[in-house]
Amino acid sequence: MWLPRLFRLPSHDMAIDLGTVNTVVYVRGQGIVLNEPSVVALETRDGIRRVKSVGRDAKLMMGKTPDNIQAIRPLRDGVIADIDVAEQMIKHFIDKAHGGRSRLPRRPEIVICVPSGSTTVERRAIRDAATNAGASKVWLLDEPMAAAIGAGLPVIEPVGAMVVDIGGGTTEVAILSLRGLAYSTSVRVGGDKMDEAITAAVRRKYNLMVGETTAERIKHALGSALPPEGEPRTISVRGRHLVQGMPKEIEISQAEVAEAIAEPVSQIIGAVRAALENTAPELAADIVDRGIVMTGGGSLLQRIDEAIALSTGLPVVIANDPLVCVAMGAGRALEDPDYRGVLNAA
Ligand code: ADP
Ligand code: MG
Repeated sequence: MWLPRLFRLPSHDMAIDLGTVNTVVYVRGQGIVLNEPSVVALETRDGIRRVKSVGRDAKLMMGKTPDNIQAIRPLRDGVIADIDVAEQMIKHFIDKAHGGRSRLPRRPEIVICVPSGSTTVERRAIRDAATNAGASKVWLLDEPMAAAIGAGLPVIEPVGAMVVDIGGGTTEVAILSLRGLAYSTSVRVGGDKMDEAITAAVRRKYNLMVGETTAERIKHALGSALPPEGEPRTISVRGRHLVQGMPKEIEISQAEVAEAIAEPVSQIIGAVRAALENTAPELAADIVDRGIVMTGGGSLLQRIDEAIALSTGLPVVIANDPLVCVAMGAGRALEDPDYRGVLNAA
């Protein structure tokens, strides 16, 4: 009697969006089961470094760690800055998505999304990390392709579609048709650069040092890709005063934040324009019809869609659930035989 029951065990094949800010895991037949910051906290004791926590718990420690603990983002700029730590993070998330290693029915197939601009060395490192974490087979999927599938674009048809995915470390811009990337570019500008620009502006104008988490909070609350209109809004910000050395609170306005992030925003728009200038005429004609679809957390920046529409003259829409779009698309590629052809054996 045990045999039929065994056959009913779920396969646990999974698709992973290994983002620079967030990792999202989709399990076959279950959908998204995990969505956590791509952060690892390392503790050094007696000269030995070991993982203390991963994901949400590790993110809470960022900027608040004692000397012997370090909270790091192993993928920060869209490349794997620290391969050992990245591997431990991948392992941790795969185990967690399974609900613990002991419950693994069989070694799963794993799809991992990679930035379109990643090198062979980086791709190999990701494949090895997933294999070491227990994958029976590893597939790599270009992030913009996953984003486009997740956003419901017609990527398996002979129709041009354009996707702009703004993440933390990188922005991916791609034009897709017939299961392939007709054009793609990955620029190292995204939400992180906006946070850094806010930190720099607050320091310059107010002599106030603020941490990464605070800068991101300011961006979420007030950030806008275009100068604000209407009622001026402000929020209070706390940090350490550079001259007095004491904790201090200041008020920052929406206009100041928009000005601070104007440079990274214009770099993103520049990448979108460059993609359009490099597109074959037939595909360009499709994009005029269908417009640009935005995904990734950066697409939630206020009025970024409007700024891109203004500068390109094209319609721009933000995908549903932009933060999980890549994982949803990768999951679809794993489950739907029509989309299987987009996967690359690693
Ligand atoms: P990645 O794929 O690199 O992990 P995500 O797609 O998860 O990145 O997006 C994370 C980025 O999106 C972060 O920089 C975060 O600050 C930014 N973000 C999330 N929500 C908002 C928002 N409401 N306004 C502006 N930026 C946002
Ligand atoms: Mg992403």
